[in-house]
Amino acid sequence: LETLVGNAPVALFEYRVAPDGQITLPFVNPAALDIFGVPAEGLESDGRRLFAHIPPEDVALIADVTERTSRTLQTASVGYRVNHPDKGQRHVIGEGTPMRLPGGGVSYQCVALDVTERHEAERHAERMDAELVRILERLSRVAEVAPVGLYEFREAPDGTWSFPYLSPRMRDLVGLDPEVEDEPGLARVFRHALPEDARGLLESIRRSRAGAQRWTRRIRLAHPVRGLIWLRGDSLPQPQADGGVLWSGALYDVTEDVRREAELAEAHARADEMRAENELQALQDGLTALPNRRAYDRLFARRIAAARAGSGPADAILLRLDLDHFKTVNDTLGHEAGDLVLRRVADALRENLRPGDFSARIGGDEFSILLAPGATPDAAEQVVERIQRALGEPLLHHGRPCRFGASFGLAHTDELGEVGAELQVFADAALYRAKESGRSRLEVFTPELHRGILADRRMAVQIHDALERDEFVPYFQPQVRARDRGLHGAEVLLRWPHPRHGLLSPPEFLRVAEQLRVVPQIDRRLMERSREVLDRWAAQGFVAPRLSFNMSAGRIRDADVVETSRRLAAGPTRIAMELLESTLVEEESDAFRFNLDRIREAGIDIEIDDFGSGHASIVGLTQVAPDVLKIDRRLVAPVADDPRSRKLIRAILEIAHTLGIATVAEGVETEAQARALAELGCDVLQGYHFGAPMDEAAFLDFARAWPARVA
Ligand code: C2E
Ligand code: CA
Ligand code: CA
Repeated sequence: LETLVGNAPVALFEYRVAPDGQITLPFVNPAALDIFGVPAEGLESDGRRLFAHIPPEDVALIADVTERTSRTLQTASVGYRVNHPDKGQRHVIGEGTPMRLPGGGVSYQCVALDVTERHEAERHAERMDAELVRILERLSRVAEVAPVGLYEFREAPDGTWSFPYLSPRMRDLVGLDPEVEDEPGLARVFRHALPEDARGLLESIRRSRAGAQRWTRRIRLAHPVRGLIWLRGDSLPQPQADGGVLWSGALYDVTEDVRREAELAEAHARADEMRAENELQALQDGLTALPNRRAYDRLFARRIAAARAGSGPADAILLRLDLDHFKTVNDTLGHEAGDLVLRRVADALRENLRPGDFSARIGGDEFSILLAPGATPDAAEQVVERIQRALGEPLLHHGRPCRFGASFGLAHTDELGEVGAELQVFADAALYRAKESGRSRLEVFTPELHRGILADRRMAVQIHDALERDEFVPYFQPQVRARDRGLHGAEVLLRWPHPRHGLLSPPEFLRVAEQLRVVPQIDRRLMERSREVLDRWAAQGFVAPRLSFNMSAGRIRDADVVETSRRLAAGPTRIAMELLESTLVEEESDAFRFNLDRIREAGIDIEIDDFGSGHASIVGLTQVAPDVLKIDRRLVAPVADDPRSRKLIRAILEIAHTLGIATVAEGVETEAQARALAELGCDVLQGYHFGAPMDEAAFLDFARAWPARVA
C-alpha cells in the first residue's frame, strides 16, 4: 500500500484540524509535495505550509469549505490555484472526507489532482465554442444580406443528390416554396430550370465529381415571379468520409450580365457589320458601284508585290479610260446627265470585261482596267472595241441625247515586277496621246512614248534647276497702235536661255512646268525681273508705256500677287494681265476672284488672251468685264484674204466696242493683215510684222528707233 501511495500521481494526505484550530498533516505522499511545490520539512508541525503557494483568496475558499464540512461531515470538494515555484500557475481540485476525531477535531482524508491540462482544454473548448458561434452568426448574416444563394449539395454514397443546406436567399433565387422539406433533392430545387438545360446540368455535376474540379455553370430558370432569369453557380466538391461528395457553393443572378453581354455582342456584331459596310464603301464608288481608286490601288499593289515575289504572274495589261467632252455634258445637260453617262460607262465595263478582269472608277471621268493575267494586247484591243461599241449606243437624258466618247491608253508589260507602278504612267502617257490625237481612240504605249516620258523627266529636273539658278528671263514683244503705229507697249514673254539647248520658248517646257505646278512661281519671278528691267530702262531714259503679263490662274491665286502688281503699277508704266479665256470663265475660287478685284482696283488692265479660241460666252464676257480682248492668232491669220474671217473679226470688234472693251490682234505677220485689222477698227496690233519677242537691250534699241520708223 505504501509503495502504491508513494507512486500515485495524485496527492494523498491527511489533513487534521484540532479543536483549537491548529492544523497538522500526519501523512503526505510525495506527489502532494510535487503538486503543491513545498518541501516535506516542517509540514507535520504546521499543516498550513502545504498552502504556501495558494493565493490567499483560494486559501479563504478552502477554509470556508473546511469550516462548513467539519460541522456537516459531508465530503468537501474545492478547486483552487497553486502558484507553483517551478511550473507556474496550476489548477488543482481537491476532495476531503471528514471524520470526527475522538478528542474533538476533524480529520480529512484528502485527494488532490493537478487538472491544469484539463482546465486549459476546457477553456480552449469554451473559446472555440464562442468563436464558432461568432463565425456562424457572421455567416448567416452574410447569407441573409448577400445577393448570393449559399448551399451545400451532397451526393450520397448511393448516388442520390440532395441539398443539406440552402440559404434563404438561395431558396428565393430558385423559386423554392418555403414549405419544402429540409433536404430537398436536385429536381426539387431546380424545378423551374429550363428543361433543355437539365441534361447539361447533370452532366456538369458528374464531370465536377469525376475530376474533383470546381463546378461552374449557367442555368436558365423560368422563375415563378421574375420570369426568365440566368443563374450562375460555383462550387467546390469535397469527398466525404462516408464515400459521398459534398459541394459547398454559391448561386447568383447573372441575368443583367447576360443581357449586357448579349447587348455587347450585338453591338460588336453591328460594329463588324458597319465596318464591313464601310470597308465596302471605302472600296466602292457610290455612283457606279464599281471598285474605287483605293480598291484599284490595293489590287494593283498586290499584283506588283506578287510579281516581285514570283508568286504571281509577271505580265500585266493596264487600260486607262477617260471620257471625252464629259465636262460639256455636265455643263450643258446638268450633273444628272453626267451621272447617267458615268453609270453607262460602268455598265459597259461590267458587260464587256471577262471574269478575271478588274475595272475601277478612279476619279471624275477616269477609269482603270486591269486585265486578267495572260491577256494579250490584241485581246485588250478587242475589249476596247467592245466597250467603244457599247458606249456608242445612244443615251437619252430627258429625251435629249448625251453625246460623249472615250479615249483609252493601254500599257503592257511582261515584267510587272520591274516596271511596277510605272505602268500607270505609261498607260497615262498613251491616254494623253490618244486625247491629243483626236480623242475617242485607243493609243498603245510605245518605246517612243517612253522616250517622251523620260525626256519630260529630264526636263522636270532641269526646270527645278533653272528656278534655283534664276535662269528664266522676260522677253518683250512690241505692240503698236493700229491708228498711228505709235508704240503702245509690249507683251512680256517667258524665255529660258538653256545652258545646253539655247533659248527655249514656253511651248518647249511649259507643259512640264505645269505638271510640276511651278508656273505660278515662274510668273512671279518674271514680274519681279520685269520690274528690274523697267528700272534699268528708266535709268537710260526710257519709260515703257505699257507692259502686259501672261498670268496663270495659280499666279492670280497667289497671296502676294496683289502686292507685286501694285508695286509695278505704281510706276509710270501701265500694267496689264493677260488671262486665258478659259481661266477667266472657269476659275471660281474665292482667292482668284478676290485677288483679281484687288488687281483691277490697283489700276491694272485685265486682258482676255486667245479670244475666240475657247468657249467664252457673251454672258461670261459681261461678267468678267475685261479691259482688253486679244484676238487669237488663228483668227487673225486669214484676215487679209478671207472675207468670212473678216466678218467674224468685225463681229468680235463690234461686241467689244459695244461693251467698251479695247482690242488687240496678235500674230500680225504682214502689212496686209495690219491694214485689214486697222480698217476693221482693231485698236492695237502685235506680231512679227512689227517685231518678234526680244530681250531687254534689244527692246530698248527697238523702242528708241521706232518713232523714226513710223515717221
Ligand atoms: P500667247 O500668250 O498667245 O503668246 C503669244 C505667242 O505668239 C508667243 O509665243 C509669241 O512668241 C508668239 N508670236 C508673237 N508674234 C507672232 C506672230 O506674228 N506669228 C506667230 N505665229 N506667233 C507669234 P511664245 O512666247 O512661245 O509663248 C507661247 C505661249 O506661252 C504664250 O501664248 C503664253 O500662253 C505662254 N506664255 C508665254 N510667256 C508666258 C509667261 O510669262 N507666263 C505664262 N504663264 N505663260 C506664258
Ligand atoms: Ca499672251
Ligand atoms: Ca495669245
